[in-house]
Amino acid sequence: MQVAADAVVSIHYTLKDDQGTVLDSSAGGEPLAYLQGHGNLVPGLEKALEGKEGGSKVAVTLSPDEGYGKRDAALVQRVPKRSLRGQGEIRKGMQFQMQTKDGVRVFTVTAVVGDMITLDGNHPLADQTLHFDVEVVSVRGATQEELEHGHVHGAGGHHH
Ligand SMILES: [Zn+2]
Repeated sequence: MQVAADAVVSIHYTLKDDQGTVLDSSAGGEPLAYLQGHGNLVPGLEKALEGKEGGSKVAVTLSPDEGYGKRDAALVQRVPKRSLRGQGEIRKGMQFQMQTKDGVRVFTVTAVVGDMITLDGNHPLADQTLHFDVEVVSVRGATQEELEHGHVHGAGGHHH
């Protein structure tokens, strides 16, 4: 079976930046399982895997537009600590899901100075050129429930 929309694809992957530093990898763990065509992976990677089969190896370089997008300065905000009350002590590196006009985004606390917090809603890999080495481990059809949820269940996917 080939990778196509609504297929459940298991992959091993290594992601490197322009300097060759490994940013993320599934090596040594279980493969990542995702649902093709549902935005589970960045757009350029789904495109590169389209039509591949179990055993295929793919090396692809993605521009920020095909990856996690460009940095948007408007997504960096300074807010008073009290606007996050109820969250306990706010520390650098904490992440919060917040509603924006484009839907829910993850914001990372990048600085805490006095009573002010800097929140950054950009993906940590925004603006980065991404170098993926991917091995397709297996491809199968999705269940109806997986299609309704928009993600994979079981090994390498969601457990709930
Ligand atoms: Zn589910």
